[in-house]
Amino acid sequence: MKKIGFIGLGNMGARMVTNLLNTNYEVIGYDINEEFVKQLLPIGLKKVSNLKDISKDVDIIITMLPNGEIVEEVLDSIIDSLKPGTLITDCSTIDVDKAKKLHKKCEDKELFFLDAPVSGGIGGAENATLTFMVGGKEDAYKKMLPLFEIMGKKSLLCGSSGSGQATKACNNMLLATTMIGVGEAFSLGNNLGLDLEKLFEILSTSTGSCWAINSYCPIKDVGPISPADNDFKPGFSADLMLKDLTIALKAIQVTNTKAKFGIKARENFQKMVNENYGNLDFSAITKFNK
Ligand code: NAD
Repeated sequence: MKKIGFIGLGNMGARMVTNLLNTNYEVIGYDINEEFVKQLLPIGLKKVSNLKDISKDVDIIITMLPNGEIVEEVLDSIIDSLKPGTLITDCSTIDVDKAKKLHKKCEDKELFFLDAPVSGGIGGAENATLTFMVGGKEDAYKKMLPLFEIMGKKSLLCGSSGSGQATKACNNMLLATTMIGVGEAFSLGNNLGLDLEKLFEILSTSTGSCWAINSYCPIKDVGPISPADNDFKPGFSADLMLKDLTIALKAIQVTNTKAKFGIKARENFQKMVNENYGNLDFSAITKFNK
């Protein structure tokens, strides 16, 4: 049985680990929150009391952590105990520059690193339908491919180090702006006295259709079941969307890209978070958009 390490057993990590445990992988897991580790023991997760112990006998470690600072902190604490050739695949969403820095740190120690953020949310993690956007070397990608195939429906090697995070930044900037646009279209339709279910039927099959309408419509009782039907319980929180838009903003500045809508979208999410609504699903931006 192949052994892998998995660090970060939160909303996403726990579901990804569950899918790995349902195949012929032995997973050794670690999370600073003991409760999250305990929940997975009955389905076969092996635990370690100390983060460093995760490096024993595994040649692949997956991380699914809140942000780049934590990923770097975790990597720094295990890097000297990893055997050469170990592959670390970071599926967290982190800064493009930080991802490049972590690639370099690993290369210097004869370790492999992939930045492999995901799209698909908690539902995708649960149903093993995630999309992995990957940056790094082809050998490392090939080694990781069987695991991507267990946890997701698609993976693509987007390019060299940082390309996965760069692709994710583009995707989530687009998602944030389309979600705001969808809210505005429904708001206009409502003010014009339209039947919103009928508006949904047309928008979701016309040129305005997009994932934010078709799969995640932010209007209660309209379209498919979404966080709007559950008081905007996440899902994918506005806090996390603001983090992703901040990553995108940094990339916009570094590359001197013109992206007025992306910058404006970030300002709107910043306001929502400042008003203490960051724990709501990001689609609630359609209510806070000003
Ligand atoms: P989460 O907060 O639920 O899980 C993160 C886990 O990391 C927690 O269990 C936490 O205890 C653990 N952790 C924190 N510091 C640690 C440390 N030093 N050592 C070990 N464990 C530590 O977050 P999540 O929703 O699972 O998201 C994880 C990553 O995936 C984030 O980078 C997020 O942006 C990204 N992501 C999330 C979604 C989503 O829908 N939730 C979708 C796509 C990408």
